[in-house]
Amino acid sequence: MRRRNSIDPNTIKIASYAVTALLMLTVNFFCTKVVLKKSNAISVGQYLDSCERITDGYAETIEATLESYKAALNVMNFPNLYKVMDSEQIQAFLIEHKTKLKKEFRDIFYVDKNGIAYTEKGKIYDVSNREYYKQIIHKDKIEFISNEIRSLHDYSPIFVYAKAVYDVNGKKKGILCGSVHISTISDLIDEISINKEGAIIIQDMEGDFIAHPAQDWLGQVFNPSFLNLNLTTSSKQNIVNRIEASSTAGNPIYIFHKKIDGTTWTVGYCVPTSNLQHIEETQAFYQFLIICISFAATILIILIELWITNFFQKKQMISINFDSLTNLPTRERFEREANKLILHNQSSKFMLVESDIRGFKFLNQNHGERKADSILIQFSRNLNEITKHQHGLLCRGYADRFYSIYKITSVQTAMKAFTGFVDKINEEIKQSEIPYTPKFGLSFYLPKEDKGIVSVQHLIGQATFAKKSIKDNALKQYAIFDEKLSEKSNEDNYIELHMEQALKDGEFFVVYQPKIDLKTEKIAGAEALVRWENSKLGFMAPYKFIPLFEKNDFIIKLDFEVYRQVFRFLKYCIDEKIPIVPISVNMSRNHNKPEKFVHDFIALMKEYEIPPEFVEVELLERSEMDKSTLREVTLLLHKEGLTVAMDDFGSGESSLNMLSNIPVDVLKFDRSFLLGTDMKNAEIDEDKATFIETLVDLGKNLKKHTVFEGVETAEQRDFLKSINCDTVQGYFYSKPLKQDEYVDFVKSHV
Ligand code: C2E
Ligand code: CA
Ligand code: CA
Repeated sequence: MRRRNSIDPNTIKIASYAVTALLMLTVNFFCTKVVLKKSNAISVGQYLDSCERITDGYAETIEATLESYKAALNVMNFPNLYKVMDSEQIQAFLIEHKTKLKKEFRDIFYVDKNGIAYTEKGKIYDVSNREYYKQIIHKDKIEFISNEIRSLHDYSPIFVYAKAVYDVNGKKKGILCGSVHISTISDLIDEISINKEGAIIIQDMEGDFIAHPAQDWLGQVFNPSFLNLNLTTSSKQNIVNRIEASSTAGNPIYIFHKKIDGTTWTVGYCVPTSNLQHIEETQAFYQFLIICISFAATILIILIELWITNFFQKKQMISINFDSLTNLPTRERFEREANKLILHNQSSKFMLVESDIRGFKFLNQNHGERKADSILIQFSRNLNEITKHQHGLLCRGYADRFYSIYKITSVQTAMKAFTGFVDKINEEIKQSEIPYTPKFGLSFYLPKEDKGIVSVQHLIGQATFAKKSIKDNALKQYAIFDEKLSEKSNEDNYIELHMEQALKDGEFFVVYQPKIDLKTEKIAGAEALVRWENSKLGFMAPYKFIPLFEKNDFIIKLDFEVYRQVFRFLKYCIDEKIPIVPISVNMSRNHNKPEKFVHDFIALMKEYEIPPEFVEVELLERSEMDKSTLREVTLLLHKEGLTVAMDDFGSGESSLNMLSNIPVDVLKFDRSFLLGTDMKNAEIDEDKATFIETLVDLGKNLKKHTVFEGVETAEQRDFLKSINCDTVQGYFYSKPLKQDEYVDFVKSHV
């Protein structure tokens, strides 16, 4: 069975969904996280903003209230009168008019330049150490709201409004003051408090509480450094400052601070930090919720997509498994089922048939797709009939290709049935509108011979190979896969892959076969023949590779390699004073440019300084068409002083005709004339003898030198001698010899 190293498409699908899901979830997660973080920041920011606004609001309200106190104190301010009055007179005036006083004021009093206070209650105190006195009399303030101070009267916490009083000269002469119990501010805060969440505190510059949710804190000092914040009063923006602190109960709180205009007071809005945490927790909860929802949504989308693709895939299954034109299974399905069939019947024999239609492409182009389709349908019906009859499997592959597999009892019976089927189908086709010829490639699975089980793909490969071997042979309609055929093709492939390297590596070498002069029995010449010794394929005679090299033109290179080796050898003989006889070399049919060939040949010969009389060129007969090539080559070689032989003379059809056109010097008669005459001691057939004699005579008359190839027996030699043939070449005298052996042969036969 075919090894499945490919991954199951379903696994790929699921893996790709998993990766997509993971990616989507990750992206989703981070996006949500970023968005929520932003929104969280916004809502926390919004909360802080609102706290600041509330603080600002409290500050403004308190400021307004304080303004109203100022206005109330002004009711008792009669500058024109006070100008001319002394301190006692002003006190008497205040006592007289105290009913006009706003009830919030505990006391109203006049302070003279020396710091002596005259109250509306008729009392006199020294207030020269009070800050409001110092600020107005000794500094440049004209009005002032004090810090929290203790009443000199009953020691209760109060604050004081103070306003400068002038003499007739417009100089400060004293201060009009009103004191208010600080609890009135706390009461006010209670009244205006809109947010039960937070607490309001007011502190003066020294940290004394003017307002505090716990009454007993009033008037107490708490002066942490944060009150020294440099809070500007000039702008409404950024005037609120936030610090972290802890409440009286020890809970962590945020205090939002703002200075109250026109005073040294600071209003503080305290909110528990847990409020912010609560917001953050709520946000985190929503964040989690949104992430969960988006996770769920992503997974849901993927599940829906999976479901949809599965749904459509099931629908598509039909078209995946069956060909829409012929309704036959597709090749994939066929392969699956055929492999199962083989696997479950391992000891059975099978025949696989690949069928197609000769020149289907041509049919398609000439008759149109519809007609071609109808041919395919008809062909598929015929194939289907036999397949059903034989209980086999059939499918349509690409275009006009069909595959079928049958369980068989023996190759013989299978072939009988198959040829019967071919005859039948041919008969039917004759009746059809457009006649066509099917062709078939066959392969067999025979468990006894085969090692192990094979896959249907393997059998298809073999059937395809067999079918290809039919090629354009119109007489052949089917071919059976043959191991040797495939070996040959493998060998050819190997040769083609390695020939260039073999040439570089010097795997090709030349052997020399002597030619003997029949009159003298001495050596008259030799033919250079190529051999190939390869590490894998071993020693190879030319029939193994020359036909292939002729197909792929490599012979052109190889011929020149042979020429080079021959010239090198001749040069060696010249230098070593070894006796020399002319050596003939073969010129393959592939050399089509006479001038180039001769030019290159002569150049090489000159490179080795070989005189032309040492070399002969053997030409092969060619088709009528390139007769002129041979003529031209011959003439050009003659010009250079070389001899030219016509090789295998008599084997072609136009030999005699050629003779008159191509002025060769030597006729080399083909070995085939002697076939049938080589039986030891057998008389040469009389008819054949006459024929050979006539041929040799013909050559003689045309003044050609005559050579006979393939002389293997003394009888053949004697006969050829008797008819005056000049020279012979053959195993009778010598097989082709390696260089050294050849040198020995020459030395003993000159
Ligand atoms: P060919 O040119 O006709 O060469 C003569 C062939 O006949 C040689 O076969 C030679 O070994 C064989 N032969 C000689 N005497 C006898 C005999 O008494 N009996 C039999 N049965 N055979 C004999 P080889 O060397 O196998 O060459 C076969 C063919 O391959 C040659 O036929 C030639 O066409 C081609 N060939 C060989 N070498 C070359 C080459 O270097 N270049 C080209 N182009 N072709 C070559
Ligand atoms: Ca030859
Ligand atoms: Ca020959």
